[in-house]
Amino acid sequence: MSRHIIVTGASRGIGRAVAQRFIDAGDNVTAWSRSGDAPEGSAISASLDVADSVAVSEAAKSAIEKLGPVSAIVVNAGVTRDGLAMRMSDEQWHEVVRTNLDGAFFCTRSVLPSMVKNRSGSVIFIGSVSPFLGVPGQANYAATKAGVMGLARSLSSEVASRGITVNVIAPGLIDTDMTMELGEGRDALLSRIPLGRIGNVSDIAGCAFFLASDDSRYITGTVIRVDGGLAMGW
Ligand code: NDP
Repeated sequence: MSRHIIVTGASRGIGRAVAQRFIDAGDNVTAWSRSGDAPEGSAISASLDVADSVAVSEAAKSAIEKLGPVSAIVVNAGVTRDGLAMRMSDEQWHEVVRTNLDGAFFCTRSVLPSMVKNRSGSVIFIGSVSPFLGVPGQANYAATKAGVMGLARSLSSEVASRGITVNVIAPGLIDTDMTMELGEGRDALLSRIPLGRIGNVSDIAGCAFFLASDDSRYITGTVIRVDGGLAMGW
């Protein structure tokens, strides 16, 4: 039977590959992003800002009315606005916090009642290894991704008795628009990856698909690094 899967930030990069993975498996995908672009075959593609709590709750309500209870949400939309903390503007700080942390919370909250009612569901956050590595210039970004891990762990305890699992995928260096912006920092990180290559979006999509499947029903409250060994030991 087709499941209803919501993917945020599905227009490009990791989110698009995740959405495509579920579409290829025959699932009904609701794809959210600011541009509204989505892979062909998405059941719903909506243009919204994940940090707009009203827009998110309306979009979730409408998607659930059309496609039924949400089996899994992949909370992926995210941005970077790198810069040294000493010189970071309020705007740089707030943009990252509102998208990566407020947005993650609003999107998750919008689907929980549907999952609780159905006594089943998977919440899958796309975190990052950045808070483990202490990447310079990413104080805002690392703070939000560490926050997502705390959010996931508390939430996993709150909803476990309802058959809902909550986990974080922490990607390392993945080949997308976001990492093209890293310039020389990208090569420095690449040289530290034991598997010796940058990750592909399909590496993350495969893990998200697993966390939404019955094969992962006994996994909750954890962080899975998909990073070629970059942050080994964390
Ligand atoms: P991209 O920049 O390629 O894609 C980001 C996606 O998020 C786009 O679909 C964008 O769509 C969407 N988005 C951004 N802001 C908003 C918003 N306010 N509301 C709705 N959608 C938004 O990034 P990646 O694919 O590389 O990253 C995806 C996730 O993976 C992020 O959370 C990122 O932090 C994380 N990650 C990525 C790594 C990497 O190496 N690439 C490493 C570790 C973590 P649109 O512009 O249309 O809104």
